Amino acid sequence: MGAALAAIAILVCGTIAAAASPPSTVTPAPTSGASSVAPSRQKISAQAPPPKPIDWDKVTKEATDLLSEYIQINTTNPPGNEIATARMLKEKFLADGIAATTWEPQPGRGVVAARLRGIGKHTKSIILLSHMDVVPANPKEWEVPPFSGQVKDGKIWGRGSIDDKGPGVVELMAMLAIKRAGILLDRDVLFVATGDEEEGGKNGAQWFVDHESDIFSDTDSLLNEGGGIRAQPDGRKTYMVSVSEKTPMWLKLTAQGVAGHASDPPAETSVTKLVRALQALDEYKTPVRVIGPVEDYYRAMGEINHRPKQFLNLNSALKDPAYLKQFLADPSQNAHVRDTITPTVLSASNKTNVISETAYAEVDCRLLPGSDPKNFLKDIKTAIGDDSIKVDVILNFPPISSPTHSTLMTAINQLADRRDKARVVPMMIIGFTDSHYFRQKKIVSYGFIPVEITAAEGKGVHGVNEHIGVKELTDGIQRMVELLKTFGGR
Ligand SMILES: [Zn+2]
Repeated sequence: MGAALAAIAILVCGTIAAAASPPSTVTPAPTSGASSVAPSRQKISAQAPPPKPIDWDKVTKEATDLLSEYIQINTTNPPGNEIATARMLKEKFLADGIAATTWEPQPGRGVVAARLRGIGKHTKSIILLSHMDVVPANPKEWEVPPFSGQVKDGKIWGRGSIDDKGPGVVELMAMLAIKRAGILLDRDVLFVATGDEEEGGKNGAQWFVDHESDIFSDTDSLLNEGGGIRAQPDGRKTYMVSVSEKTPMWLKLTAQGVAGHASDPPAETSVTKLVRALQALDEYKTPVRVIGPVEDYYRAMGEINHRPKQFLNLNSALKDPAYLKQFLADPSQNAHVRDTITPTVLSASNKTNVISETAYAEVDCRLLPGSDPKNFLKDIKTAIGDDSIKVDVILNFPPISSPTHSTLMTAINQLADRRDKARVVPMMIIGFTDSHYFRQKKIVSYGFIPVEITAAEGKGVHGVNEHIGVKELTDGIQRMVELLKTFGGR
């Protein structure tokens, strides 16, 4: 990201409308610009009346309406158009006297941040992160129009209801509920919603981290998408907390040859060279490696489900060739224990009788934490065995994990025990989220939104008929309030 981008960033609006909410001992004097969401050293008096009870029926109605409205603003990426949702979320915070600011990293793109001030006893804040952009949805494949935000059968339907507008609403409504009840937290809570996550975050989280790091200079913890609550077959709940992610290493392979007419082809063309390289990659098998969080995850799953016994010690079980073959036959299990190599884009001539000078392929490789990108690239080139094939890296960032033990994990454990008698399972996810941008800044970042999603509902993510239960949404807000009260020290 160059300096040019910083120059065109537009600070859309940063004034806070504190007058819109009743005066409160935790509302600092209004300031303007991004400074309104920046950290402050000012300690606020903890002298306040006891918290008021939260009207959960009202919160449910408000959260449902907000999510429905949020889904109706089409933020399909590309192009994203997240500035519209950023403004909507900002207004929602301002109406309750919570300082909020939006930025426009590129025309139409958006980032929004809001800060609920604590009493300043803890100097470190927590970020509640979400993304506002969504993946495309084809209305022809859906039972309900994907951007209708329809509420029926106790569910809110639409693209983004789970990924990731629903979680954003859980985070926002929890902050509003805490503010309205007059609950004074020891820490500040910072809400950040970015754009462009679905395309890698260059115009979203990456821009924010590169250009507005002052906003979160006091942050040591973060919650984001990537994990949540799953019910096991016996009805018990499990809190899945993502502490680590695989890292993308996207490659472009380019082959050159002589252009010409296909009626008198040379022995070798750009296309035949590229096909040979891809064939070699297909035959190349990356080594199997079970990293700590993956071993722990399978052991926990084996204990929870009482099967299969091999999960209890995956590392030694995979030494049996027959079991290894069976285990790797499942694509998700395979991806948990190996770097993967997947050709996805192919391009050469666009005419049957024309030999193209250039042919290229894009290959989506995903590396386990601990895999060295440089060595991986070297192995790829060795496997291809043809120096004339150009290999360019089009996306990569350092593999990075968060520790399994932290104050935040302790708070999640307390919530799991108190609220659901649930077990907490730290894990690695095989996809990637915006968390890595913040992990690189040494912020303990967990993929965990305390909402219960069924396996069937999970299929709606990037799929069809995405929806979230109204009750699950409210339960998620309640859990988030509890979690922030615990983690916030109150
Ligand atoms: Zn997402």
